[in-house]
Amino acid sequence: MLEQCEVCGARLEYRIKESLQGLFCMQCDWSVVTTYIPQIYQDLTQYKMYLCCTSSHNVEQLKAISTVANINLIQARKISQEDQPLILEGKAPQISEARKIFDSLFVTYTIKPQFPY
Ligand SMILES: [Zn+2]
Repeated sequence: MLEQCEVCGARLEYRIKESLQGLFCMQCDWSVVTTYIPQIYQDLTQYKMYLCCTSSHNVEQLKAISTVANINLIQARKISQEDQPLILEGKAPQISEARKIFDSLFVTYTIKPQFPY
């Protein structure tokens, strides 16, 4: 679409691949790349994640809480009985990972300040 590969002459395609962006050859390994840092990694905001009403009887959800908060299951059960406990404090990528875990298990939460990703 833009240019041809210097090595094999095949078409080059613009892509973002992991943390790199640039032109990649569709046929060989040739590429011109620049380092691409996603917005989320440049965000220096310290986010706080609070748990909303979660059933303390759902073992899968308790496991998710213990993973995210780095606590054991007994502590997770205890914390899930509190009113909107603070479960995690961290930068955007960390919050994003936690959100994936919680979303897959329907654990409800709120993030402050508002999480734009
Ligand atoms: Zn090529």
